[in-house]
Amino acid sequence: MSRGDMAKPLLGSQGIEGDPSITPAAGRTIGVLGSGDFARSLAIRLVCSGFKVVVGSRNPKRKAGLFPSAAEVTFQADAVKKTDVIFVAVFREHYSTLCDLADMLVGKILVDVSNNTEINHQKESNAEYLASLFPACTVVKGFNVISAWTLQSGARDGNKQVLICSNNQEAKRTVAEIAQVMGFTPVDMGCMSSAHEIENIPLRLLPAWRIPIFLALGLFLCFFTYNLIRQVIHPYIREQKIKLYKIPIEVVNTTLPCVAYVMLSLVYLPGVLAACLQLYYGTKYRRFPDWLDQWLQHRKQIGLLSFFCAALHAVYSLCLPMRRSHRYQLIETAVKQAMEKKMNIWVEEEVWRMEIYISVGIIALGLLSLLAITSLPSIANSLNWREFSFIQSTLGFIALVISTLHTLTYGWSRAFDENQYKFYLPPTYTLTLLVPCTVILAKVIFSLPCIQQRLLRIRRGWEKGRYVKFILPSAMAEHSSGETSSNV
Ligand code: NAP
Repeated sequence: MSRGDMAKPLLGSQGIEGDPSITPAAGRTIGVLGSGDFARSLAIRLVCSGFKVVVGSRNPKRKAGLFPSAAEVTFQADAVKKTDVIFVAVFREHYSTLCDLADMLVGKILVDVSNNTEINHQKESNAEYLASLFPACTVVKGFNVISAWTLQSGARDGNKQVLICSNNQEAKRTVAEIAQVMGFTPVDMGCMSSAHEIENIPLRLLPAWRIPIFLALGLFLCFFTYNLIRQVIHPYIREQKIKLYKIPIEVVNTTLPCVAYVMLSLVYLPGVLAACLQLYYGTKYRRFPDWLDQWLQHRKQIGLLSFFCAALHAVYSLCLPMRRSHRYQLIETAVKQAMEKKMNIWVEEEVWRMEIYISVGIIALGLLSLLAITSLPSIANSLNWREFSFIQSTLGFIALVISTLHTLTYGWSRAFDENQYKFYLPPTYTLTLLVPCTVILAKVIFSLPCIQQRLLRIRRGWEKGRYVKFILPSAMAEHSSGETSSNV
């Protein structure tokens, strides 16, 4: 965002005047201790949000040019005198250098914005440490989850949530108001003991993605090895043909769809297992085992990784004819046919197989793209529950069925051709069909009226062995079926 854009207030002055809860914060003087990257971005954003800003630096003359002209850059002692709310934008190891200011800071609010370099690096959180150094101040932890870049990039870009905690409600409310005027959404995380957790958040590396990524990598490794044995090692051992050139594209391209397809079925398998458990126990009030709970919670990430592999497979497939090895093989086949004086090489069945295979694959990829797009929070939030569950549950299952057709048309009759069994290993696609076909079969069984009705009753609160008069109007049943099927 340019300086010009930043000069525009994030909330118009009318909005600030019109909202009584915001008025007390806007226009007040806010102090910032430190003149580094974070302090600078914070000062720019505060100025643009209508606050007066006073920056406290050890060397104000040298740093003044880095700040907007509307912000006053002065010595630390001078800055803390002029305001009651002070953002401490210095690293934890330098907190003690601020102790000379302790007398001037009595009764003021200190906002600790600091982060650590490692998770649980210190026993005591930075905010608690700051509070121990300045017992006469009120410390509020906040803004550490917002980067200097996000502060500069405007209200509608980047993470908008500011997590706040403090032992003092009034101080927390003041900082929340400031965050709100700056265009952020304050989230109350409770008392100061939450500071440790808040400080760990920016250090976590894709916590929700760890299991799905390991799963995808594990599947990739298994299928890759299997395909390597069939496509490279087998021809070498049996015919002494070196086919290492197949590894970068052909082997990878036969592995990716296997991973995508199995991962897609793993999005729907936990729902099937959960339904089996509910039917078996005759209640929905029994906790699922932890592993199943975890699996259910990671379905979105598993689905997105499935889409990622499917998209890569599409790109790899488009590139197949570009390869030099492919051109050589085409010419070789043409020469062979010319020498054998074969004039018509059109095989009707093969032509149809390929047309259907590609068409079905494109539809499956289209549906997967739709699922991926609607799982983005901004899109998901614009859908109501029924729309979301229709896309993720119904269309998702249709995508699985179409992917199965894509796999079956790829295989066609090859499963019955003994030449396709290398070292007695069946073609890879036959292995991939295992889990998806189980899921599809289970879904078909669950849609049988006798089972579906029982499942619906369980999901509406009915329990085996307990007599509860239960009436389920058909319209309600229909609605709840959508709700529960994607919940579980
Ligand atoms: P920085 O660029 O290195 O700035 C640190 C500032 O601390 C210096 O400019 C310096 O300002 C001041 N300071 C005060 N006493 C000091 C001393 N004894 N020795 C050295 N410097 C001293 O760091 P930053 O990136 O702005 O980060 C500041 C704080 O914000 C850190 O606690 C960090 O964890 C937190 N934070 C940063 C980001 C980010 O995106 N950068 C995001 C979230 C949180 P003067 O020389 O003017 O005194």
